[in-house]
Amino acid sequence: MTQRIGIMGGTFDPIHIGHLVTAQEVYERFDLDKVIFMVAGKHPLKQRHVTPAGQRLEMVEIAIRDNPHFEASDYEVKRKKVTYTVDTLRHLHNVYPEDVEFYFITGADALFEIIEWKDAHELAEMTILVGATRPGYTIEQAQQRHEHAEEKFDIRYLEVPALAVSSTDVRHRVEQGRDVRYLVTDGVADYIRAHNLYTGK
Ligand code: ATP
Ligand code: MG
Repeated sequence: MTQRIGIMGGTFDPIHIGHLVTAQEVYERFDLDKVIFMVAGKHPLKQRHVTPAGQRLEMVEIAIRDNPHFEASDYEVKRKKVTYTVDTLRHLHNVYPEDVEFYFITGADALFEIIEWKDAHELAEMTILVGATRPGYTIEQAQQRHEHAEEKFDIRYLEVPALAVSSTDVRHRVEQGRDVRYLVTDGVADYIRAHNLYTGK
């Protein structure tokens, strides 16, 4: 039987309930075998200070540990070089049986940008794209962009329960001394506190 595997890629600085709810929704809707959380290593575009990859990975592991269908991958984190999504999918296609179907999960922002990612035409052949709507980002713009693009992605759209949570918002709250309870899992909130993350110090 063909395996269906979701890939949720992100910086996860930190992982929050928006990521988790989205992954779970896609898991159920597309009858996936599992979802892999692919933690980004060195990012070619992010300019701000990013928490060390090891700690971002630990937070993901803590957040998903009670879900047997979720898995964290250190593949990108372990690579010394900047890793693009296309590199990761090539790797996954080598590791998994030939007939596996990958579902690359993106929020509306990433959905909009993906056409400009490295080797997008090849990426389009290697994965089904799941575009999850995320409050504050309309997907119409992204939809239009894909219609006019040369790279033809197989896109499935999915509405996720309204969650205006972002890692940026979580970091800002911590910096302001506010509580991030319920925006991240309890384990992640404890980890942020224990490691003094996002305090601006
Ligand atoms: P930041 O604010 O630092 O950019 P983020 O919350 O966007 O962080 P990322 O790690 O950048 O988190 O995102 C990883 C993936 O998760 C992206 O595809 C993004 O679109 C998606 N995503 C992030 N937040 C949500 C959310 N609340 N609902 C659905 N998808 C989300
Ligand atoms: Mg983001």
